[in-house]
Amino acid sequence: MSTHTATSKLISGATGDWEVVIGLEIHAQVTSRSKLFSGASTEFGGAPNSHVSLVDAAMPGMLPVINEECVKQAIRTGLGLKAKINHRSVFDRKNYFYPDLPQGYQISQYKNPIVGEGEVLVDLSPTEQICVGIERLHLEQDAGKSLHDLGANDSHVDLNRSGVALMEIVSKPDMRSAEEAKAYVTKLRTILRYIGSCDGNMEQGSLRADVNVSVRKPGAPLGTRCEIKNVNSIRFIGQAIDVEARRQIGVLEDGGTIDQETRLYDPNKSETRSMRSKEEAHDYRYFPDPDLLPLEFDQATVDALAKNLPELPDAKKARFIAQYGLSPYDASVLVADKETADRFEESVKFAGKTRDAKAVANLITGDVAAYANSCGLTIAQTHITPSQIAGIVDLVADNTISSKLAKDVLAYITTTEKNSDPAVIVTKYDLKQVTDTGAIEQAVDEIIAKNPDKVEQAKAKPTMLGWFVGQVMKATGGKANPQAVNEILKTKLGI
Ligand code: ADP
Ligand code: MG
Repeated sequence: MSTHTATSKLISGATGDWEVVIGLEIHAQVTSRSKLFSGASTEFGGAPNSHVSLVDAAMPGMLPVINEECVKQAIRTGLGLKAKINHRSVFDRKNYFYPDLPQGYQISQYKNPIVGEGEVLVDLSPTEQICVGIERLHLEQDAGKSLHDLGANDSHVDLNRSGVALMEIVSKPDMRSAEEAKAYVTKLRTILRYIGSCDGNMEQGSLRADVNVSVRKPGAPLGTRCEIKNVNSIRFIGQAIDVEARRQIGVLEDGGTIDQETRLYDPNKSETRSMRSKEEAHDYRYFPDPDLLPLEFDQATVDALAKNLPELPDAKKARFIAQYGLSPYDASVLVADKETADRFEESVKFAGKTRDAKAVANLITGDVAAYANSCGLTIAQTHITPSQIAGIVDLVADNTISSKLAKDVLAYITTTEKNSDPAVIVTKYDLKQVTDTGAIEQAVDEIIAKNPDKVEQAKAKPTMLGWFVGQVMKATGGKANPQAVNEILKTKLGI
Protein backbone atom coordinates (compact mmCIF):
# COMPACT_ATOMS: atom_id res chain seq x y z
CA MET A 1 0.00 0.00 0.00
CA SER A 2 1.42 3.38 -0.92
CA THR A 3 0.08 6.57 0.63
CA HIS A 4 1.26 9.86 -0.71
CA THR A 5 0.14 13.46 -0.66
CA ALA A 6 -0.46 14.11 -4.34
CA THR A 7 -0.24 12.36 -7.64
CA SER A 8 0.34 14.80 -10.44
CA LYS A 9 -1.50 13.85 -13.57
CA LEU A 10 -0.34 16.75 -15.67
CA ILE A 11 -2.38 18.26 -18.47
CA SER A 12 -0.37 19.20 -21.51
CA GLY A 13 -1.02 22.60 -23.03
CA ALA A 14 0.55 24.59 -25.85
CA THR A 15 3.24 25.97 -23.50
CA GLY A 16 4.01 22.71 -21.69
CA ASP A 17 2.52 20.77 -18.78
CA TRP A 18 0.08 22.15 -16.23
CA GLU A 19 -0.91 20.89 -12.82
CA VAL A 20 -4.50 21.15 -11.55
CA VAL A 21 -5.06 22.01 -7.89
CA ILE A 22 -8.43 21.28 -6.27
CA GLY A 23 -9.97 22.03 -2.88
CA LEU A 24 -13.56 21.14 -2.01
CA GLU A 25 -16.14 22.66 0.28
CA ILE A 26 -18.78 20.02 0.93
CA HIS A 27 -22.16 20.94 2.37
CA ALA A 28 -23.57 17.92 4.14
CA GLN A 29 -27.08 18.00 5.59
CA VAL A 30 -26.98 16.78 9.17
CA THR A 31 -29.17 13.76 9.91
CA SER A 32 -31.46 14.89 12.73
CA ARG A 33 -35.21 15.00 13.21
CA SER A 34 -35.35 18.75 13.78
CA LYS A 35 -33.56 21.85 12.55
CA LEU A 36 -30.37 23.44 13.90
CA PHE A 37 -32.10 26.11 15.99
CA SER A 38 -35.80 25.14 15.97
CA GLY A 39 -38.05 22.16 16.58
CA ALA A 40 -39.44 22.07 13.01
CA SER A 41 -39.14 18.81 11.10
CA THR A 42 -36.32 18.24 8.61
CA GLU A 43 -38.29 15.68 6.59
CA PHE A 44 -37.68 15.85 2.83
CA GLY A 45 -40.57 16.31 0.42
CA GLY A 46 -43.26 17.83 2.69
CA ALA A 47 -45.87 20.23 1.27
CA PRO A 48 -44.28 23.68 0.78
CA ASN A 49 -43.93 25.66 4.03
CA SER A 50 -45.31 22.81 6.16
CA HIS A 51 -42.11 22.44 8.22
CA VAL A 52 -41.58 26.03 9.29
CA SER A 53 -41.49 27.25 12.89
CA LEU A 54 -41.68 30.89 13.94
CA VAL A 55 -37.88 30.82 14.35
CA ASP A 56 -37.38 29.58 10.76
CA ALA A 57 -39.76 32.26 9.48
CA ALA A 58 -37.72 34.82 11.47
CA MET A 59 -40.67 36.32 13.27
CA PRO A 60 -39.53 39.30 15.37
CA GLY A 61 -38.44 38.35 18.86
CA MET A 62 -37.97 34.63 18.15
CA LEU A 63 -34.81 33.18 19.65
CA PRO A 64 -32.71 30.31 18.27
CA VAL A 65 -32.01 27.36 20.57
CA ILE A 66 -29.17 25.02 19.61
CA ASN A 67 -30.15 21.41 18.78
CA GLU A 68 -27.92 19.13 20.86
CA GLU A 69 -28.20 16.24 18.38
CA CYS A 70 -26.77 18.37 15.54
CA VAL A 71 -23.80 19.29 17.73
CA LYS A 72 -23.22 15.60 18.51
CA GLN A 73 -23.36 14.73 14.82
CA ALA A 74 -20.73 17.38 14.04
CA ILE A 75 -18.47 16.02 16.80
CA ARG A 76 -18.94 12.42 15.60
CA THR A 77 -18.08 13.50 12.06
CA GLY A 78 -15.01 15.40 13.29
CA LEU A 79 -13.86 12.23 15.05
CA GLY A 80 -14.40 10.25 11.83
CA LEU A 81 -12.19 12.78 10.03
CA LYS A 82 -9.46 12.33 12.71
CA ALA A 83 -9.86 16.04 13.34
CA LYS A 84 -9.27 18.40 16.22
CA ILE A 85 -12.52 18.93 18.13
CA ASN A 86 -12.81 22.48 19.46
CA HIS A 87 -14.37 22.54 22.94
CA ARG A 88 -15.39 26.14 22.38
CA SER A 89 -16.81 27.44 19.13
CA VAL A 90 -18.79 30.51 18.12
CA PHE A 91 -21.87 31.07 15.96
CA ASP A 92 -21.64 34.12 13.74
CA ARG A 93 -24.13 35.99 11.61
CA LYS A 94 -23.26 35.99 7.93
CA ASN A 95 -25.24 38.93 6.58
CA TYR A 96 -26.74 38.92 3.15
CA PHE A 97 -30.12 39.42 1.54
CA TYR A 98 -31.87 36.58 -0.18
CA PRO A 99 -35.63 36.12 -0.68
CA ASP A 100 -35.51 32.63 0.84
CA LEU A 101 -33.50 33.75 3.88
CA PRO A 102 -36.05 35.58 6.04
CA GLN A 103 -33.59 36.48 8.82
CA GLY A 104 -31.47 38.53 6.42
CA TYR A 105 -28.47 36.60 7.72
CA GLN A 106 -27.36 33.00 7.96
CA ILE A 107 -26.16 31.66 11.31
CA SER A 108 -22.82 30.03 10.60
CA GLN A 109 -19.40 29.62 12.18
CA TYR A 110 -16.48 31.66 10.91
CA LYS A 111 -13.27 32.14 12.89
CA ASN A 112 -14.05 29.55 15.57
CA PRO A 113 -15.56 26.42 14.02
CA ILE A 114 -16.55 23.33 16.03
CA VAL A 115 -14.02 21.11 14.22
CA GLY A 116 -10.48 22.01 13.11
CA GLU A 117 -7.85 20.22 11.04
CA GLY A 118 -8.19 16.54 10.13
CA GLU A 119 -7.57 14.14 7.28
CA VAL A 120 -9.21 11.61 4.97
CA LEU A 121 -7.45 8.62 3.43
CA VAL A 122 -8.70 8.26 -0.13
CA ASP A 123 -8.46 5.02 -2.08
CA LEU A 124 -7.42 5.57 -5.70
CA SER A 125 -7.02 1.85 -6.34
CA PRO A 126 -6.92 -1.14 -3.99
CA THR A 127 -3.23 -0.51 -3.35
CA GLU A 128 -2.85 3.25 -3.75
CA GLN A 129 -4.07 5.97 -1.38
CA ILE A 130 -3.70 9.71 -0.99
CA CYS A 131 -4.19 11.69 2.19
CA VAL A 132 -6.42 14.76 1.81
CA GLY A 133 -6.20 17.34 4.58
CA ILE A 134 -9.32 18.78 6.19
CA GLU A 135 -9.13 22.48 7.01
CA ARG A 136 -12.25 22.72 9.18
CA LEU A 137 -15.84 21.60 9.68
CA HIS A 138 -18.44 24.09 10.83
CA LEU A 139 -22.17 24.07 11.49
CA GLU A 140 -24.52 26.42 9.69
CA GLN A 141 -28.14 26.87 8.64
CA ASP A 142 -29.41 25.93 5.21
CA ALA A 143 -31.53 28.48 3.28
CA GLY A 144 -35.02 27.98 1.86
CA LYS A 145 -35.84 27.44 -1.77
CA SER A 146 -37.08 29.99 -4.31
CA LEU A 147 -39.36 28.68 -7.05
CA HIS A 148 -39.52 30.82 -10.17
CA ASP A 149 -41.34 28.55 -12.57
CA LEU A 150 -44.76 27.98 -10.95
CA GLY A 151 -46.39 30.94 -12.69
CA ALA A 152 -45.47 33.46 -15.36
CA ASN A 153 -45.52 36.54 -13.17
CA ASP A 154 -44.58 35.51 -9.68
CA SER A 155 -41.94 33.75 -7.62
CA HIS A 156 -42.62 31.47 -4.65
CA VAL A 157 -40.63 30.65 -1.56
CA ASP A 158 -40.59 27.30 0.28
CA LEU A 159 -39.02 27.58 3.73
CA ASN A 160 -39.05 23.86 4.60
CA ARG A 161 -35.27 23.65 4.25
CA SER A 162 -34.67 27.01 5.91
CA GLY A 163 -32.76 26.43 9.14
CA VAL A 164 -31.91 22.78 8.52
CA ALA A 165 -28.42 22.01 9.89
CA LEU A 166 -25.53 21.72 7.46
CA MET A 167 -21.95 20.72 8.11
CA GLU A 168 -19.58 22.55 5.81
CA ILE A 169 -16.49 20.40 5.42
CA VAL A 170 -13.59 22.32 3.87
CA SER A 171 -10.64 20.40 2.41
CA LYS A 172 -7.15 21.69 1.89
CA PRO A 173 -6.11 22.20 -1.74
CA ASP A 174 -4.68 18.66 -1.76
CA MET A 175 -6.20 17.09 -4.86
CA ARG A 176 -4.47 17.03 -8.25
CA SER A 177 -7.00 15.53 -10.67
CA ALA A 178 -10.73 15.05 -11.23
CA GLU A 179 -10.26 11.36 -10.34
CA GLU A 180 -8.78 12.25 -6.96
CA ALA A 181 -11.57 14.73 -6.22
CA LYS A 182 -14.25 12.17 -7.13
CA ALA A 183 -12.58 9.51 -4.98
CA TYR A 184 -12.37 12.00 -2.09
CA VAL A 185 -16.10 12.81 -2.23
CA THR A 186 -16.92 9.10 -2.51
CA LYS A 187 -14.83 8.32 0.57
CA LEU A 188 -16.14 11.27 2.55
CA ARG A 189 -19.70 10.21 1.75
CA THR A 190 -18.93 6.65 2.87
CA ILE A 191 -17.57 7.95 6.18
CA LEU A 192 -20.63 10.18 6.75
CA ARG A 193 -22.94 7.25 6.02
CA TYR A 194 -21.07 4.91 8.37
CA ILE A 195 -21.31 7.51 11.12
CA GLY A 196 -24.95 8.23 10.28
CA SER A 197 -24.42 12.01 10.34
CA CYS A 198 -25.54 12.62 6.73
CA ASP A 199 -27.44 10.34 4.34
CA GLY A 200 -25.18 11.47 1.47
CA ASN A 201 -28.09 11.58 -0.95
CA MET A 202 -26.89 13.92 -3.70
CA GLU A 203 -30.11 13.78 -5.76
CA GLN A 204 -32.07 15.18 -2.82
CA GLY A 205 -29.37 17.77 -2.18
CA SER A 206 -28.18 16.33 1.16
CA LEU A 207 -24.62 16.54 -0.15
CA ARG A 208 -23.42 19.36 -2.41
CA ALA A 209 -19.98 20.52 -3.38
CA ASP A 210 -18.36 23.85 -4.09
CA VAL A 211 -15.36 22.99 -6.23
CA ASN A 212 -12.27 25.24 -6.12
CA VAL A 213 -9.96 24.85 -9.10
CA SER A 214 -6.68 26.50 -10.06
CA VAL A 215 -3.84 25.55 -12.40
CA ARG A 216 -0.10 26.12 -12.23
CA LYS A 217 3.14 25.06 -13.87
CA PRO A 218 4.58 22.13 -11.85
CA GLY A 219 6.55 23.48 -8.89
CA ALA A 220 5.12 27.01 -9.20
CA PRO A 221 3.20 28.68 -6.32
CA LEU A 222 -0.58 28.12 -6.16
CA GLY A 223 -2.53 29.83 -8.94
CA THR A 224 -5.64 31.95 -8.54
CA ARG A 225 -8.68 29.75 -7.95
CA CYS A 226 -12.22 29.85 -9.23
CA GLU A 227 -15.03 28.39 -7.16
CA ILE A 228 -17.68 26.36 -8.97
CA LYS A 229 -20.81 26.49 -6.83
CA ASN A 230 -23.27 23.78 -5.85
CA VAL A 231 -22.27 20.83 -7.99
CA ASN A 232 -24.67 18.03 -7.15
CA SER A 233 -23.26 14.76 -8.46
CA ILE A 234 -19.89 13.05 -8.31
CA ARG A 235 -19.82 12.71 -12.08
CA PHE A 236 -20.47 16.43 -12.55
CA ILE A 237 -17.72 17.28 -10.02
CA GLY A 238 -15.25 15.43 -12.25
CA GLN A 239 -16.56 17.03 -15.44
CA ALA A 240 -16.58 20.55 -13.94
CA ILE A 241 -12.94 20.20 -12.84
CA ASP A 242 -11.75 19.02 -16.26
CA VAL A 243 -13.68 21.71 -18.11
CA GLU A 244 -12.60 24.49 -15.73
CA ALA A 245 -8.92 23.45 -15.76
CA ARG A 246 -8.94 23.49 -19.58
CA ARG A 247 -10.58 26.92 -19.58
CA GLN A 248 -8.00 28.36 -17.18
CA ILE A 249 -5.09 26.89 -19.17
CA GLY A 250 -6.56 28.44 -22.33
CA VAL A 251 -6.83 31.87 -20.70
CA LEU A 252 -3.29 31.75 -19.30
CA GLU A 253 -1.74 30.47 -22.51
CA ASP A 254 -3.43 33.32 -24.39
CA GLY A 255 -1.56 35.70 -22.09
CA GLY A 256 -4.57 36.42 -19.87
CA THR A 257 -4.98 36.21 -16.11
CA ILE A 258 -7.47 34.30 -13.97
CA ASP A 259 -9.81 36.42 -11.88
CA GLN A 260 -10.90 34.91 -8.61
CA GLU A 261 -14.59 34.44 -9.18
CA THR A 262 -17.59 32.25 -8.55
CA ARG A 263 -18.73 30.13 -11.49
CA LEU A 264 -21.52 27.71 -12.34
CA TYR A 265 -21.13 24.41 -14.19
CA ASP A 266 -23.61 23.74 -16.99
CA PRO A 267 -23.55 20.00 -17.75
CA ASN A 268 -25.66 20.44 -20.90
CA LYS A 269 -23.17 22.78 -22.51
CA SER A 270 -20.17 21.25 -20.76
CA GLU A 271 -18.85 24.65 -19.70
CA THR A 272 -18.50 26.83 -16.61
CA ARG A 273 -19.95 30.35 -16.57
CA SER A 274 -19.13 33.34 -14.41
CA MET A 275 -21.70 34.01 -11.66
CA ARG A 276 -19.99 36.85 -9.86
CA SER A 277 -16.48 38.26 -9.76
CA LYS A 278 -14.47 39.10 -6.66
CA GLU A 279 -15.40 42.78 -7.02
CA GLU A 280 -19.05 41.85 -6.71
CA ALA A 281 -18.34 39.44 -3.84
CA HIS A 282 -20.49 39.89 -0.77
CA ASP A 283 -19.22 41.67 2.26
CA TYR A 284 -20.86 39.43 4.83
CA ARG A 285 -19.92 41.57 7.86
CA TYR A 286 -19.61 38.49 10.07
CA PHE A 287 -20.12 39.10 13.79
CA PRO A 288 -20.93 36.80 16.72
CA ASP A 289 -24.68 36.17 16.94
CA PRO A 290 -25.81 38.00 20.11
CA ASP A 291 -28.73 35.55 20.49
CA LEU A 292 -26.40 32.57 21.01
CA LEU A 293 -23.78 31.88 23.65
CA PRO A 294 -20.50 30.35 22.50
CA LEU A 295 -20.90 26.59 22.16
CA GLU A 296 -18.94 24.82 24.88
CA PHE A 297 -18.59 21.17 25.92
CA ASP A 298 -16.02 19.10 27.79
CA GLN A 299 -13.74 16.23 26.80
CA ALA A 300 -16.04 13.72 28.54
CA THR A 301 -18.74 14.56 25.99
CA VAL A 302 -16.29 13.93 23.14
CA ASP A 303 -15.05 10.67 24.75
CA ALA A 304 -18.60 9.36 25.15
CA LEU A 305 -19.32 9.99 21.46
CA ALA A 306 -15.98 8.46 20.42
CA LYS A 307 -16.77 5.32 22.43
CA ASN A 308 -20.01 4.77 20.53
CA LEU A 309 -18.64 5.47 17.06
CA PRO A 310 -19.07 2.49 14.71
CA GLU A 311 -16.08 0.78 13.11
CA LEU A 312 -15.18 3.08 10.19
CA PRO A 313 -14.30 1.99 6.61
CA ASP A 314 -10.48 2.12 6.94
CA ALA A 315 -10.51 0.05 10.12
CA LYS A 316 -13.04 -2.39 8.69
CA LYS A 317 -11.00 -2.87 5.52
CA ALA A 318 -7.84 -3.56 7.53
CA ARG A 319 -9.76 -6.02 9.72
CA PHE A 320 -11.27 -7.86 6.72
CA ILE A 321 -7.79 -8.32 5.26
CA ALA A 322 -6.27 -9.49 8.56
CA GLN A 323 -9.17 -11.58 9.88
CA TYR A 324 -10.47 -13.19 6.69
CA GLY A 325 -7.37 -13.09 4.49
CA LEU A 326 -9.20 -11.08 1.82
CA SER A 327 -7.41 -9.23 -0.97
CA PRO A 328 -7.31 -5.42 -0.66
CA TYR A 329 -9.61 -5.28 -3.69
CA ASP A 330 -12.29 -7.55 -2.19
CA ALA A 331 -12.02 -5.76 1.15
CA SER A 332 -12.46 -2.35 -0.56
CA VAL A 333 -15.54 -3.48 -2.47
CA LEU A 334 -17.13 -4.96 0.65
CA VAL A 335 -16.56 -1.94 2.94
CA ALA A 336 -17.75 0.60 0.34
CA ASP A 337 -21.00 0.62 2.26
CA LYS A 338 -21.67 -0.60 5.76
CA GLU A 339 -24.69 -2.70 4.80
CA THR A 340 -22.69 -4.64 2.21
CA ALA A 341 -19.92 -5.27 4.75
CA ASP A 342 -22.56 -6.48 7.22
CA ARG A 343 -24.13 -8.74 4.62
CA PHE A 344 -20.73 -10.29 3.91
CA GLU A 345 -20.10 -11.02 7.58
CA GLU A 346 -23.63 -12.37 8.09
CA SER A 347 -23.11 -14.70 5.13
CA VAL A 348 -19.78 -15.95 6.49
CA LYS A 349 -21.41 -16.81 9.82
CA PHE A 350 -24.90 -17.68 8.64
CA ALA A 351 -26.85 -20.21 10.73
CA GLY A 352 -24.14 -20.55 13.34
CA LYS A 353 -21.69 -22.12 10.94
CA THR A 354 -18.45 -20.42 9.81
CA ARG A 355 -17.65 -20.92 6.15
CA ASP A 356 -14.72 -20.00 3.90
CA ALA A 357 -14.72 -16.18 3.92
CA LYS A 358 -12.75 -15.96 0.69
CA ALA A 359 -15.34 -18.05 -1.12
CA VAL A 360 -18.10 -15.81 0.24
CA ALA A 361 -16.16 -12.68 -0.77
CA ASN A 362 -15.54 -14.06 -4.27
CA LEU A 363 -19.22 -14.73 -4.81
CA ILE A 364 -20.26 -11.29 -3.50
CA THR A 365 -17.62 -9.18 -5.26
CA GLY A 366 -17.96 -11.25 -8.45
CA ASP A 367 -21.37 -12.40 -9.65
CA VAL A 368 -23.47 -10.66 -6.97
CA ALA A 369 -21.71 -7.33 -7.56
CA ALA A 370 -22.14 -7.72 -11.34
CA TYR A 371 -25.87 -8.30 -10.84
CA ALA A 372 -26.15 -5.31 -8.45
CA ASN A 373 -24.31 -3.15 -10.97
CA SER A 374 -26.62 -4.15 -13.79
CA CYS A 375 -29.60 -3.03 -11.65
CA GLY A 376 -27.91 0.21 -10.56
CA LEU A 377 -28.03 -0.95 -6.93
CA THR A 378 -25.44 -1.42 -4.22
CA ILE A 379 -24.79 -5.03 -3.26
CA ALA A 380 -26.79 -4.61 -0.06
CA GLN A 381 -29.74 -3.11 -1.94
CA THR A 382 -30.26 -6.31 -3.94
CA HIS A 383 -32.78 -8.87 -2.67
CA ILE A 384 -30.09 -11.56 -2.33
CA THR A 385 -29.96 -12.63 1.32
CA PRO A 386 -27.08 -13.90 3.49
CA SER A 387 -28.98 -17.20 3.65
CA GLN A 388 -28.86 -17.52 -0.16
CA ILE A 389 -25.20 -16.51 -0.38
CA ALA A 390 -24.25 -18.95 2.38
CA GLY A 391 -26.38 -21.61 0.72
CA ILE A 392 -24.57 -21.35 -2.61
CA VAL A 393 -21.13 -21.35 -0.95
CA ASP A 394 -22.08 -24.46 1.08
CA LEU A 395 -23.31 -26.31 -2.02
CA VAL A 396 -20.01 -25.62 -3.77
CA ALA A 397 -18.03 -26.55 -0.66
CA ASP A 398 -19.67 -29.98 -0.32
CA ASN A 399 -19.33 -30.59 -4.09
CA THR A 400 -23.07 -30.64 -4.74
CA ILE A 401 -22.53 -28.04 -7.46
CA SER A 402 -19.47 -26.77 -9.30
CA SER A 403 -18.68 -23.05 -9.34
CA LYS A 404 -20.03 -23.03 -12.88
CA LEU A 405 -23.37 -24.41 -11.66
CA ALA A 406 -23.25 -21.88 -8.82
CA LYS A 407 -23.61 -19.22 -11.50
CA ASP A 408 -26.73 -21.00 -12.77
CA VAL A 409 -28.20 -21.12 -9.25
CA LEU A 410 -27.56 -17.39 -8.84
CA ALA A 411 -29.12 -16.75 -12.24
CA TYR A 412 -32.35 -18.36 -10.96
CA ILE A 413 -32.17 -16.25 -7.78
CA THR A 414 -31.88 -13.06 -9.82
CA THR A 415 -34.81 -13.98 -12.09
CA THR A 416 -37.61 -16.50 -11.45
CA GLU A 417 -36.58 -17.84 -8.05
CA LYS A 418 -35.96 -14.61 -6.15
CA ASN A 419 -36.77 -15.94 -2.69
CA SER A 420 -35.83 -19.59 -3.08
CA ASP A 421 -33.29 -21.54 -1.12
CA PRO A 422 -30.31 -22.55 -3.33
CA ALA A 423 -30.67 -26.22 -2.30
CA VAL A 424 -34.32 -26.18 -3.40
CA ILE A 425 -33.32 -24.64 -6.75
CA VAL A 426 -30.70 -27.35 -7.29
CA THR A 427 -33.31 -30.08 -6.74
CA LYS A 428 -36.07 -28.38 -8.71
CA TYR A 429 -33.92 -27.80 -11.82
CA ASP A 430 -31.73 -30.87 -11.43
CA LEU A 431 -28.50 -28.88 -11.15
CA LYS A 432 -26.58 -31.35 -8.99
CA GLN A 433 -23.17 -31.87 -10.51
CA VAL A 434 -22.27 -35.30 -11.87
CA THR A 435 -19.35 -36.61 -9.84
CA ASP A 436 -20.06 -40.23 -10.73
CA THR A 437 -16.90 -41.00 -12.70
CA GLY A 438 -18.65 -43.85 -14.50
CA ALA A 439 -21.10 -41.49 -16.14
CA ILE A 440 -18.36 -39.00 -17.00
CA GLU A 441 -16.16 -41.77 -18.43
CA GLN A 442 -19.00 -42.93 -20.63
CA ALA A 443 -19.44 -39.44 -22.06
CA VAL A 444 -15.67 -39.09 -22.58
CA ASP A 445 -15.49 -42.47 -24.38
CA GLU A 446 -18.30 -41.52 -26.75
CA ILE A 447 -16.68 -38.22 -27.69
CA ILE A 448 -13.26 -39.80 -28.20
CA ALA A 449 -14.80 -42.49 -30.41
CA LYS A 450 -16.57 -39.91 -32.57
CA ASN A 451 -13.56 -37.63 -33.06
CA PRO A 452 -10.42 -39.64 -33.90
CA ASP A 453 -8.92 -36.69 -35.81
CA LYS A 454 -9.25 -34.36 -32.82
CA VAL A 455 -7.69 -37.03 -30.59
CA GLU A 456 -4.61 -37.07 -32.82
CA GLN A 457 -4.43 -33.27 -32.75
CA ALA A 458 -4.72 -33.19 -28.97
CA LYS A 459 -1.77 -35.52 -28.56
CA ALA A 460 0.40 -33.01 -30.46
CA LYS A 461 -1.25 -29.94 -28.98
CA PRO A 462 -2.43 -30.40 -25.37
CA THR A 463 -4.31 -27.07 -25.40
CA MET A 464 -6.94 -28.96 -27.47
CA LEU A 465 -8.01 -30.35 -24.09
CA GLY A 466 -10.29 -27.34 -23.72
CA TRP A 467 -12.32 -28.40 -26.74
CA PHE A 468 -12.87 -31.88 -25.25
CA VAL A 469 -13.87 -30.42 -21.86
CA GLY A 470 -16.44 -28.27 -23.68
CA GLN A 471 -17.88 -31.32 -25.47
CA VAL A 472 -18.16 -33.35 -22.25
CA MET A 473 -19.84 -30.45 -20.46
CA LYS A 474 -22.30 -30.10 -23.34
CA ALA A 475 -23.04 -33.84 -23.26
CA THR A 476 -23.70 -33.73 -19.51
CA GLY A 477 -25.83 -30.59 -19.60
CA GLY A 478 -23.02 -28.60 -17.93
CA LYS A 479 -23.31 -30.69 -14.80
CA ALA A 480 -20.15 -32.77 -14.89
CA ASN A 481 -17.61 -31.97 -12.19
CA PRO A 482 -15.02 -29.99 -14.20
CA GLN A 483 -12.09 -31.35 -12.18
CA ALA A 484 -13.14 -34.97 -12.77
CA VAL A 485 -13.69 -34.26 -16.50
CA ASN A 486 -10.17 -32.85 -16.78
CA GLU A 487 -8.55 -35.78 -15.04
CA ILE A 488 -10.44 -38.46 -16.98
CA LEU A 489 -9.76 -36.74 -20.30
CA LYS A 490 -6.04 -36.41 -19.59
CA THR A 491 -5.78 -40.10 -18.74
CA LYS A 492 -7.79 -41.28 -21.73
CA LEU A 493 -6.06 -38.97 -24.22
CA GLY A 494 -2.70 -39.78 -22.72
CA ILE A 495 -1.67 -36.13 -22.30
P1 ADP B 1 -13.83 30.98 0.86
O1 ADP B 1 -14.59 31.39 2.06
O2 ADP B 1 -13.24 32.08 0.09
O3 ADP B 1 -14.58 30.00 0.00
P2 ADP B 1 -12.49 28.89 2.24
O4 ADP B 1 -11.20 28.95 3.00
O5 ADP B 1 -13.74 28.61 2.97
O6 ADP B 1 -12.55 30.23 1.42
O7 ADP B 1 -12.37 27.77 1.14
C1 ADP B 1 -11.39 27.78 0.23
C2 ADP B 1 -11.38 26.47 -0.50
O8 ADP B 1 -10.59 26.64 -1.65
C3 ADP B 1 -10.72 25.34 0.29
O9 ADP B 1 -11.34 24.12 0.00
C4 ADP B 1 -9.29 25.35 -0.23
O10 ADP B 1 -8.69 24.08 -0.19
C5 ADP B 1 -9.49 25.77 -1.66
N1 ADP B 1 -8.35 26.49 -2.23
C6 ADP B 1 -7.65 27.47 -1.66
N2 ADP B 1 -6.68 27.91 -2.50
C7 ADP B 1 -6.78 27.19 -3.65
C8 ADP B 1 -6.11 27.17 -4.90
N3 ADP B 1 -5.12 28.02 -5.17
N4 ADP B 1 -6.53 26.28 -5.83
C9 ADP B 1 -7.53 25.44 -5.60
N5 ADP B 1 -8.21 25.41 -4.45
C10 ADP B 1 -7.86 26.28 -3.47
MG1 MG C 1 -16.25 29.09 0.22
